[in-house]
Amino acid sequence: MAEKPTPRFALWPLLVVMAVLLLVQYYVAGQRLNTLSYSEFRRLVEIKGVDNLEISTDTISGQLLPAGVEFLAKSRNEPDLPERLKKQFDKEPTFSTVRLEDPDLVKTLDQQGIKYRGVQEKTWLTSLMSWVLPTLFLVAIWVYFFRKIGAGGAGGLMTVGKSKAKVYVQDETKETFKDVAGVEEAEEELKEIIEFLQNPAKFQVLGGKLPKGVLLVGPPGTGKTLLARAVAGEAGVPFLSLTGSDFVEMFVGVGAARVRDLFAQAQEKAPCIIFIDELDAVGKARGLSPLGGPEERENTLNQLLSEMDGFDTRKGVIIMAATNRPEILDPALIRPGRFDRHILVDRPSLKGREDILTIHTRKIKLSPQVTLKTLAARTPGMVGSDLANIVNEAALLAARKNKSQVEMDDFEEAIDRVVAGLEKRNRLMNPREKEIVAYHETGHALVAEALPTTDKVHRVSIIPRGIGSLGYTMQLPTEDRYLMTKSELEDRMAVLMGGRVAEELHFQEISTGAQNDLYRATDIARSMVREYGMSEQLGPMTFERERRPLFLETMLPPGAKDYSEATAQEIDREVNTLVAKAHRRAREVLEQQLPVLEKAAKILLEKEVLEGDELRQILNAAAKPETV
Ligand code: ADP
Ligand code: MG
Ligand code: ZN
Repeated sequence: MAEKPTPRFALWPLLVVMAVLLLVQYYVAGQRLNTLSYSEFRRLVEIKGVDNLEISTDTISGQLLPAGVEFLAKSRNEPDLPERLKKQFDKEPTFSTVRLEDPDLVKTLDQQGIKYRGVQEKTWLTSLMSWVLPTLFLVAIWVYFFRKIGAGGAGGLMTVGKSKAKVYVQDETKETFKDVAGVEEAEEELKEIIEFLQNPAKFQVLGGKLPKGVLLVGPPGTGKTLLARAVAGEAGVPFLSLTGSDFVEMFVGVGAARVRDLFAQAQEKAPCIIFIDELDAVGKARGLSPLGGPEERENTLNQLLSEMDGFDTRKGVIIMAATNRPEILDPALIRPGRFDRHILVDRPSLKGREDILTIHTRKIKLSPQVTLKTLAARTPGMVGSDLANIVNEAALLAARKNKSQVEMDDFEEAIDRVVAGLEKRNRLMNPREKEIVAYHETGHALVAEALPTTDKVHRVSIIPRGIGSLGYTMQLPTEDRYLMTKSELEDRMAVLMGGRVAEELHFQEISTGAQNDLYRATDIARSMVREYGMSEQLGPMTFERERRPLFLETMLPPGAKDYSEATAQEIDREVNTLVAKAHRRAREVLEQQLPVLEKAAKILLEKEVLEGDELRQILNAAAKPETV
């Protein structure tokens, strides 16, 4: 077995050779008289103290005649110099000096009758020093790195683009839909994909186009990765997975090579699933990245795009990807023919949370008193990974207390722990603030329920979530809308104003909590006036010329306005009118439903979460049919 040579082994001889050469050169140079200064040399020429000169580009050397030695001894005040030189040299001593720019030299030499000749400086020694050695040195370094990289990867430098080491190929994934809960809608949509993977031929009979890319979109921890694996498990096909950041590499071209290799492997293993987790790492919109080094990621992205276009779905390869930031993806990635199917993996509902808890407590010894339903009710807004976390914490807590079963209070404690870290439920929100938020959110919800075109309220919550948002009102459906009518936009604005109006009505006072609502409402109003020509005063005109290069939907700085100052004022006035109107409408709605507002807000304050149905019950109980 040949051992891999260590780097020192490669560099040692070179260092030795260098040292020897330096010594040799020193010895050769040492045979000459200590180098003369040029002025000394010139004076020696004047008195004809030197002869047989060899003149190269940089140096002058030659013989030192007795007269010269005499002169030097005197001028340097070294009386023993002639003695020393006699000992050192058998014949005439030699000298050398650094040559200076001196146009008269040759003339003087001729006058003095000193013999001289020009020489080529490059002796074997100097040429060795000047280029052979450095070359050798570079080669040595190169070999060293080559070996080093080679030792690391499977196959070394030459195969650095091969994704074998990184692609996580699993011929069998053990997860199935049994391990996933609370995302039934997503499962339903994925069933079709599974069918297709199990029997690709069946779908081609009629010549239909097969799906290519499926994008799982949803908040972190909702089970996107899990779902993708479950699809592979259900279909019984290999699962090739890679994380977006794996593509983004230091070496130029490696990311692109990985993509190529990934798809090549997929073709071999078809039918199979390619799964790119955290697609946003590689799929960020081109031109969105900060200065410096966007090129490489773009290469990778371009390669991904072209592979997606080029490969053959008929063999049964499905590309799945997951992201929690779909809004930053490059538009080219999500256009038809690529990741055109978007599946929302949303936070689980009450029932969903109960089901997820059931799954994760399967292997845990539960005390009979534990009711998962109660736990589910205690954990609104939590996602699958939070729940898995809670179950685990509870089991650990129980174990620490030497219990034989996990009991309800272990779960309670675990929830408190997870919640504290997660939603900052205990963040200092004083009772007063909480009250304001409760009324504010109820205001949004009631306006949303009352207006004709708005989506039904799904849930109202005053559990602080993330930074800056104190509560939220969720409306369903959250489907994508491509077209909106003017009344829809106006209703939406009214809903946004609802929060502030509720504060006004109950507290006769307004807070800073509505800032984001106002911002969004104003934004809608401005778009209505400037972009959609929905203002009566200004008529069907657009004032927003989109100054982006055709086909390139990246963010560019907004262009300068190209309308008059008077028009600008008119626009502002119109925006103002629209916002004011929305405010008026919200106020009308809430004034009529003041009792409901009070009642619902109080319940919300107590329960922190109000499901849409509960809200509607309160509304119905108030039974005021004249409110349309
Ligand atoms: P994501 O990829 O959406 O961020 P993951 O799939 O990585 O979330 O979920 C992390 C873990 O949380 C999973 O391994 C699983 O244990 C648990 N989990 C998340 N969502 C669910 C779910 N819907 N059903 C069951 N377990 C879930
Ligand atoms: Mg994930
Ligand atoms: Zn609000």
